[in-house]
Amino acid sequence: MSKNPLDKKIGILGAGQLGKMLFQASTKLNLDISFLDSSVEMPVGRISDRVYIGNFKDYDDVIAFGADKDVISIEIEAVNVDALQQLENDGKQVFPQPSVVRLIQDKGTQKEFFRINELVSPSFQLVESKEHLQSSIDSGDITFPFVQKLRRDGYDGRGVCVINTKQDMDDAFDSPCVIEDLVDISKELSVIVARGKSGEIAVYDPVEMVVNPEANVLDFQLAPAAIDKAKSDEAKKLAIDTANKLEIVGLLAVELFLDINNELWINELAPRAHNSGHHSIESCQTSQYEQQLRCILGLPLGSTALLSPSLLMNILGDPHHTGPAIYQGLAACLEKKGVHPHLYGKTITKPMRKMGHITIVNSNLEEAKDIYHYIKSTLKVISHE
Ligand code: ADP
Repeated sequence: MSKNPLDKKIGILGAGQLGKMLFQASTKLNLDISFLDSSVEMPVGRISDRVYIGNFKDYDDVIAFGADKDVISIEIEAVNVDALQQLENDGKQVFPQPSVVRLIQDKGTQKEFFRINELVSPSFQLVESKEHLQSSIDSGDITFPFVQKLRRDGYDGRGVCVINTKQDMDDAFDSPCVIEDLVDISKELSVIVARGKSGEIAVYDPVEMVVNPEANVLDFQLAPAAIDKAKSDEAKKLAIDTANKLEIVGLLAVELFLDINNELWINELAPRAHNSGHHSIESCQTSQYEQQLRCILGLPLGSTALLSPSLLMNILGDPHHTGPAIYQGLAACLEKKGVHPHLYGKTITKPMRKMGHITIVNSNLEEAKDIYHYIKSTLKVISHE
């Protein structure tokens, strides 16, 4: 007889902040959930003793961790997919499916998937090395300007380089890359879709990421995005089409660009809970984390309705401090209306390290922006070492 979904033993690869928020959601349903990561000092380890030490990129560690689990999922996609595939072959439920994780791990295969399925995404070519890139430029196959992206292991913009002219070629990566047309971006959007085991869909409203162009990091995020209903519906439809074409079970974050001509383009995918869905904890009927658990356990999906608009900001380590973290000014920020802090519990702060986030829930997003500016000038993550 198959187990009651609520009794299934769940194993999660990764015990970072996304894992911590997944654990917090799991306590509502009193689930049996444990995590695999390199240290009990990871964020989950601060609130749960169910962190097993191992490397989620190592085949044997993942197999050993998965052996007594019923359902295996992820909070990070840079995991050993061969092991996930083996666990699936052994009859374990692995969501998102290993084939989907494999496809998304590589921006090259992601882009080919968009092309094959006619999902609008900037035109691209694949190159193997800087030499290959240079010869494609010399032959006229690739023309300036373009965006170069590492096929693997780039994150938070660190594997992305805009090459405008020949002079920028000094900065070009010498690795297998995607070379992509530059989009004239007017807004960066993200849509989170949840897809259940029978293909049922729950989609969140698009959110808008306001990026700091100098540091190439998120300044803040607005939910909902300031776009009209028709564009919002179009973005949601694109995200749903993508999830259906992938046949993913679980969460899919679809990052999109809205260009200056009001056209939408898919940028990239993440097959898991995403920074752009943190607001759903306070802002939506069902958080993305609870939704992930519902998907992987085969439970009914929850409503994605927005309870209140919100502004989300990351709490980053001060650029001049490294060492045990001190959250200077946090108490003053808590006096402001609608401020929901999430400190991830990372012991050591480093320059620009993501130490937490704050969701400012407010029906008036202009007022939320004032509170954001106050917090930005008041809260500092420093260290006395
Ligand atoms: P990462 O996986 O590191 O988050 P992204 O593909 O999201 O990388 O790119 C990081 C940022 O670079 C995007 O948020 C966007 O601001 C910019 N960018 C990426 N692709 C393009 C593009 N084709 N045209 C213009 N800007 C881009």
